[in-house]
Amino acid sequence: MARKKIIAGNWKMNKTPSEAVALANELKALVDTDEVDVVFCVPAIDIIPVVDAVKGTKISVGAENLYFEESGAYTGEISPNMLVDAGVKYVIIGHSERREYFAETDETVNKKILKALEHNITPIICCGESLTQRKQGVYIDWIRMQIKIAFQNVTADQAKTCVIAYEPIWAIGTGETATADQAEEVCLAIRECIKEVYDEATADAIRIQYGGSMNAGNAKELLAKPDIDGGLIGGASLKPDFKDIVFPN
Ligand code: PEP
Repeated sequence: MARKKIIAGNWKMNKTPSEAVALANELKALVDTDEVDVVFCVPAIDIIPVVDAVKGTKISVGAENLYFEESGAYTGEISPNMLVDAGVKYVIIGHSERREYFAETDETVNKKILKALEHNITPIICCGESLTQRKQGVYIDWIRMQIKIAFQNVTADQAKTCVIAYEPIWAIGTGETATADQAEEVCLAIRECIKEVYDEATADAIRIQYGGSMNAGNAKELLAKPDIDGGLIGGASLKPDFKDIVFPN
């Protein structure tokens, strides 16, 4: 089954609202396409101006987080309704930086995924191993556990719409990329895990990205692998080179 590629930028905690609009305007001229789904995942305060900046293009805007309650006394948090009303289509959930610095667990990741799906926001579900886990040879077991907990109570129809981002922690922001074979090995294992949890149709439909120092130089080889359906891009999403990941050559 042909899956449409999805290239998402994770702008992280970079760009003020006016800087974000300038970057969105610069990039939209380069990556407005039907061939690939292109998403700018931006800081919460940048969402409304960036949605406005990309209006009339095929680019979608994503959030970097959401909270799993509808409303109430959760100072500092952002609800799914707020994101939907602002024009958000995707949300990154369970990024390793949120797990490390903000104590996100597999259980809170699962709650956030269920809440995003309830509101028709597509979750980009991050998983990935540390360098120690890779060296110990337990990385596939670890990622299978992350996936199984993330998808608890998610239906097969919902799972088909999700995006999974395999992001080895040792490759994020380090300049060290997983080789295309290393990335493919894990993306295939994730697809097999989805097949076990659901069925072949769900495994065939779900899109799996690689993330970790992906750039203009290595994107083509990574994206050529059969189980890598796109990329979640940090550093390189803040530069015009982002277009060479959307259109690798
Ligand atoms: C990320 O943070 O999701 C990421 C992949 O970052 P980088 O591309 O900078 O490694």
